[in-house]
Amino acid sequence: MKKVYFDYNATTPVDKRIVDAILPYYLNVFGNPSNMNSAHGKEANRAFKNALRDIADYFSVESIDDIILTSGATESNNLVLKSFVDSAKKPCRIITSKIEHDSILQTLEALGDDVIVDYVKNDSNGTIDLQDLENKIQDDTVLISIMGANNEIGTIQPISEIAGIARKHNVPFHSDVTQYVPHKRIDLSKVSIDYISLSGHKIYAPKGVGLMVCRNDKALSKIKPQIFGGGQQNGYRSGTINVPGAVSMAEAIKLLDVEIEQDNEHNRVLYNSFFKVLRQREIPYRLNGDPVNRINGNISVSIDGITSIQLLAALYEYSISTGSACSTGKKSHVLKAISCPDNVISGTIRIGFGRFSEEEDIVAIANKIADYYEIAHK
Ligand code: PMP
Repeated sequence: MKKVYFDYNATTPVDKRIVDAILPYYLNVFGNPSNMNSAHGKEANRAFKNALRDIADYFSVESIDDIILTSGATESNNLVLKSFVDSAKKPCRIITSKIEHDSILQTLEALGDDVIVDYVKNDSNGTIDLQDLENKIQDDTVLISIMGANNEIGTIQPISEIAGIARKHNVPFHSDVTQYVPHKRIDLSKVSIDYISLSGHKIYAPKGVGLMVCRNDKALSKIKPQIFGGGQQNGYRSGTINVPGAVSMAEAIKLLDVEIEQDNEHNRVLYNSFFKVLRQREIPYRLNGDPVNRINGNISVSIDGITSIQLLAALYEYSISTGSACSTGKKSHVLKAISCPDNVISGTIRIGFGRFSEEEDIVAIANKIADYYEIAHK
């Protein structure tokens, strides 16, 4: 049986070019970059700094010190949210949306009475309401945290406009851009997002590595370390520096820089091919998320009268999901927040694709869905 991977929103396969680029940092350049007394340490340190330089250039931040290497977007999100609550007069207010990833929502929940969470309204496509955002800003609002693109339904948020509102009211803006970065460029010298979180394993790098990038020194100065120890990364994030991880992030980002348009075009072709089949075969479906402002490598769809459990069973050779991999088994908080009726929630599947997906496979899965629908409705 051919197994086909269509779960790129959960994690991407690692690009072989990234594996090749990081291997020397396991096998040869394996020193501890904090040990600057040894030749091995020095060369590892150089590799780390070079990786940070590449990352800083891509996002247009001046200093490599404004980049914190983390274990992934979950840690990056925790770091930003907790920093602001730590240094605020309590309770403070943070504005976010109901469709954020659990690493935002659960962190805020865990902060308990120290933070009052104001949820900005969103429409039925998941796009946040900018007027409501502005109305919700209060004197004790310490941070706005809105994601760049949603991991379940693919909707892209108007982050430049959000940044403009945040700037106007002098409130720092953090964006979890984990799902946005594989599809869209971000230039922090042009759009005033103060902090971004991202993850390696959505951009073809390995799991267990991510970044928190601050727009400038001023933004960095508000970050309060959450992991203490040897004082690595200027004390902002202790723990022996993951040099191959840093190199993998730099390689992933350099590849994106060259290939992002090509990746997007490829995804757009696959996306269109999928719906072309459903339309030609007159299968009634509902697409979740914004039909236009969306990342192309995501399809969140429900098929009339069919549950996702039935579909997952019928499509067993395809790795797809019912929603976020991080909350498997729970009713999707994202679909609830966009007011999907229960039958839509229990009928939704998520198909995620990207750089290594093939058009014939997306056509085949669409045809299988259509076959199943026709049999079920005979
Ligand atoms: N935010 C979003 C939007 C995500 O999609 C994910 C991964 N599912 C995360 C945060 C968490 O990232 P990580 O697995 O690197 O901790």
